[in-house]
Amino acid sequence: MKKIAVFPGSFDPFTVGHEAIVKRALPLFDMIIIAVGENAEKKNLFTIENRLRMISDVFMGEEKIEVTRFSGLTVNFCREKKAGYILRGLRTSADFEYERALGHMNRMMAPEVETLFLLTGTEHTPVNSTIVRDIIIKGGDASIFVPKAIKISKYLSK
Ligand code: ADP
Repeated sequence: MKKIAVFPGSFDPFTVGHEAIVKRALPLFDMIIIAVGENAEKKNLFTIENRLRMISDVFMGEEKIEVTRFSGLTVNFCREKKAGYILRGLRTSADFEYERALGHMNRMMAPEVETLFLLTGTEHTPVNSTIVRDIIIKGGDASIFVPKAIKISKYLSK
């Protein structure tokens, strides 16, 4: 059986923290599906198409990575993709409390899907998409917070 993990998130935008989690998890899996959630309730800065493009640009040529959108429950998406694992990153105790509830509830709904958490690298602990978005909206330079392959202005156009 292939070891397939889904890395779900908003990725608005995809940051160096997300990139590091994916790179560190790559040796553990046969495939990682980076799944951009379509969440109508969240106000996004980058369109879903542009988020898919920016992530694909970061991992261009990496055969073990698929980048796709999804809607609905993550566990249902895992079943559809025959993925046995959900990958999540942990930065702080606030992340932990949220992820703990989410992980437990996902496990109750789909016991065959394991959630795997990686602790963020210390240098990426403060990196947060919400703050990165705020920097961009206020005209600041957020390039150090996103992977080198992402030229922010390229993905802002609608
Ligand atoms: P969500 O809306 O699902 O929280 P995010 O795009 O904010 O989506 O995050 C997706 C995943 O990446 C989550 O598990 C989150 O904890 C993790 N993550 C976010 N930022 C970082 C970071 N700087 N380092 C490590 N993991 C991170």
